[in-house]
Amino acid sequence: MSEQARRVIRSPRGTELSCQGWQQEAAYRMLHNNLDPEVAEHPDELVVYGGTGKAARDWRSFDAIARTLQGLKQDETLLIQSGRPVGVMRTHEWAPRVLLANSNLVGDWATWEEFRRLEALGLTMYGQMTAGSWIYIGTQGILQGTYETFAAVAAKRFGGTLAGTVTLTAGLGGMGGAQPLAVTMNDGVAICVDCDPSRIARRIEHRYLDVQAGDLAEAVRLATEARDARRPLSIGLLGNAAEVLPEMLAMGAPIDIVTDQTSAHDPLAYLPVGVAFEDMREQAAKDPAAFTLRARESMARHVEAMVGFMDSGAEVFDYGNSIRGEAKLAGYTRAFDFPGFVPAYIRPLFCEGKGPFRWAALSGDPRDIAATDRAILELFPENESLARWIKLAGERVAFQGLPARICWLGYGERDKAGLRFNEMVASGELRAPVVIGRDHLDAGSVASPYRETEGMLDGSDAIADWPLLNAMVNVASGASWVSIHHGGGVGIGRSIHAGQVAVADGTPLAAQKLERVLTNDPGMGVIRHVDAGYDRAAEVAAERGVAVPMASG
Ligand code: NAD
Repeated sequence: MSEQARRVIRSPRGTELSCQGWQQEAAYRMLHNNLDPEVAEHPDELVVYGGTGKAARDWRSFDAIARTLQGLKQDETLLIQSGRPVGVMRTHEWAPRVLLANSNLVGDWATWEEFRRLEALGLTMYGQMTAGSWIYIGTQGILQGTYETFAAVAAKRFGGTLAGTVTLTAGLGGMGGAQPLAVTMNDGVAICVDCDPSRIARRIEHRYLDVQAGDLAEAVRLATEARDARRPLSIGLLGNAAEVLPEMLAMGAPIDIVTDQTSAHDPLAYLPVGVAFEDMREQAAKDPAAFTLRARESMARHVEAMVGFMDSGAEVFDYGNSIRGEAKLAGYTRAFDFPGFVPAYIRPLFCEGKGPFRWAALSGDPRDIAATDRAILELFPENESLARWIKLAGERVAFQGLPARICWLGYGERDKAGLRFNEMVASGELRAPVVIGRDHLDAGSVASPYRETEGMLDGSDAIADWPLLNAMVNVASGASWVSIHHGGGVGIGRSIHAGQVAVADGTPLAAQKLERVLTNDPGMGVIRHVDAGYDRAAEVAAERGVAVPMASG
């Protein structure tokens, strides 16, 4: 292992600044936080989560970004091209301190093959969503969305609770690791398959997963006992999902819900049947084309088993990792027989501009998050499911890196929360500023036909003007850093999406910026869905005063 690979990165805490102001400091701390060993999946390779989602292109780029942020002035903007700092421009106080573009390729060249060629030349990096935009907060980030999704499954099929049901899924990585806890928070039982023993151990260590079964038979026995007692339980099972799922289907295992969060978006990160986990990286590197074919073939078997469970009555959905698309490429014709989770459960929330709203305490003090939790409960006393989430999260979520929280808030709510946090920083109720951002699994900042924009009412799934408008609006509104990415979540060629982060540093200027950014950013979700013809979005626009020129003409 090289000297570089042994580096341990951790965000500074407290109120002493490493940079010229809190806006720059926030970017500096969040970049470091993304690579904290508690947060990142493979920090020695700068990989944060989601297969190969990175925070910076290489260690030289990381050092140059950190150095530049330290010297960056209040009227300067640092430009990042796929994880590499390429320039500093004189701008103005309202402009973002950092602008990032990650993994973008021209349409005809937007393939994994071309991406990898350019990556090997050192010209680009895979930014995933919050990895390359420096607002990943560990598995909690996805936990609330996953909790909401399983709650929606419960509401749709199981009388509002998962008690007495068994969910079967795979993938216990950075995102997928949220699944077991999201199921047990909804009172259900989960069997979670992963081929990497270290992922299972890590989820148990972080209290996201309860136990590991010795083998398949034990997993089914434990699940059935817990289900019959209506006792929540999550069970890790070591194995290859492309083998375990067909086996469970064949033995008639009593499964009610099936989904998947292996890294199927990247065929080189999905373990094919017949390859030992220990040999995976070497084999993928040696012959990527052959490995891709084998991985896709295995994904076809995996998806075939999911369809089999659906045929026997289970609730089955794709959890946004493109596994249906990959199985189809391998020639499996029924791959799209089950829906993606967005059209199945999440779109009505998107119509209200609702999506993941997250914040991190730059002080590093968990008491700051406890105080913001209380503020959220006071601000939205009528929202019962939000209150339930905040309470459960406070009890059950172990922080990774800087203390952070996430909850889903919509148009007209996020700006309230942001302004409140800014007041709390100003009054000294919080010990240091707070960063406020979001995932790109969001209402109005993503074009992703296999996920966020699957099955849009007007067929506009692949229209990518919306995320670009979203990024420009956030720049124009005063966000602290803004990013435009390609390929996050579902892989190269399949998505274009934008991110923003705004810093509540307690100043009156921050209050003005937060008010605009946190109104306009979810506002994009409302207008995107009004434009696509969703009645609920039109109602929300009318009720909450979102101006939509074509709606009144
Ligand atoms: P990750 O790379 O951190 O984890 C993937 C896990 O899958 C690893 O633990 C790996 O060991 C396991 N795996 C790979 N092949 C397997 C196989 N054949 N059998 C069993 N286990 C296998 O990725 P992540 O961050 O957890 O993301 C998982 C997927 O979900 C990605 O495709 C990502 O793009 C997608 N995603 C979904 C959402 C969402 O909201 N639904 C959000 C972000 C990302």
